[in-house]
Amino acid sequence: MANVKLEGISKSYSVVEVLKDIDLDIADGEFCVFVGPSGCGKSTLLRMIAGLEDITSGTLSIGGRKVNDLSPKERGIAMVFQSYALYPHRTVRGNMEFGLKLSRLPRAEIDKRVARAAKMLQIEHLLDRRPSQLSGGQRQRAAIGRAVVRDPSVFLFDEPLSNLDAALRVSTRREIADLHRELGATMIYVTHDQVEAMTLADRIVVLNDGVIQQVGSPMALYETPANLFVAQFIGSARMNIFDATVTALSDQTAVLAVAELGEVSIPVRGRTLAKGDAVKFGIRPEHLSPASDGPHNAQVRAVEHLGDQVLVEAALADGTALLLKAPPSAQLGHGEAMRFALDAQAVHLFDADGRAIAPVAP
Ligand code: ADP
Ligand code: MG
Repeated sequence: MANVKLEGISKSYSVVEVLKDIDLDIADGEFCVFVGPSGCGKSTLLRMIAGLEDITSGTLSIGGRKVNDLSPKERGIAMVFQSYALYPHRTVRGNMEFGLKLSRLPRAEIDKRVARAAKMLQIEHLLDRRPSQLSGGQRQRAAIGRAVVRDPSVFLFDEPLSNLDAALRVSTRREIADLHRELGATMIYVTHDQVEAMTLADRIVVLNDGVIQQVGSPMALYETPANLFVAQFIGSARMNIFDATVTALSDQTAVLAVAELGEVSIPVRGRTLAKGDAVKFGIRPEHLSPASDGPHNAQVRAVEHLGDQVLVEAALADGTALLLKAPPSAQLGHGEAMRFALDAQAVHLFDADGRAIAPVAP
């Protein structure tokens, strides 16, 4: 078991800096997820922790020991890749045993570890098959098994579910969560999929352009995004963002002129706003609701029935698109006019640089 500490970690390829001054302390036993768009530096960061990439500057410690100059083998980590990276000519058992044999573990210990991991991952019946005789999900379980038998103090996963179909992604995600509970090991998991991040993580690290945008629990990121990037990246069905101007202000209320929505009063706290400020006004689709007496109106553009709810894309008078979630009973047809209300308690405001302003009352 071990904590993983990154202090001022940067990575450059010649003149291009792909990771900038990363500070992060991952606790022993934590499930930490790195999430961000493709190319933001997630894999590079994970590979630096693994020892597969040099660290340009900064200090990396695992279990209190500086490991910058240690080889991957000496770091007590095991990594699972998107591509499985199994030896094609070895059986599942052969793949799981390989590293243990190299480190000259006694036969009885190897058998014990393989049996335990195979049971945990429900691949006991597949141990004598080769990778080509397995489905994608089974191959990934074999690859995870190969990591488990090494009994690492830190597991590193790089998009391990990306090659699986949707149903298998959900079930394998559950198995990884179960594995974490069972082993209690530190796990660092990379994905570009915010749903995967939300469902698995104790803590999420949101990266963009090689810079940490925010670190927090899934609900903290959802409820109090630190900036526009996090606000729009976290949450399925993106947060709506509109330009707005502060038109009136009192101790408890701010009135905003919000694009084509018109005037909206929101509860505020503190003195972080001034009359005349130009801000970005954010509201999640689940905080807008169709209401025949609602103060705002829009025209329905598209309706997606998801069973338990309806996702509606509508357009404001100037054509600005708007997403909202409605109950399945909502009668909304394409092209129809609709009225809606918004939950003023759930509004997010951001300044000109996209940083969250925290005026909204809890
Ligand atoms: P992610 O995993 O988030 O999709 P990566 O960590 O793979 O992103 O890549 C981050 C950035 O570093 C990308 O812009 C990529 O082009 C660049 N990069 C990755 N590996 C190399 C390399 N060996 N040489 C030069 N640039 C690289
Ligand atoms: Mg990657």
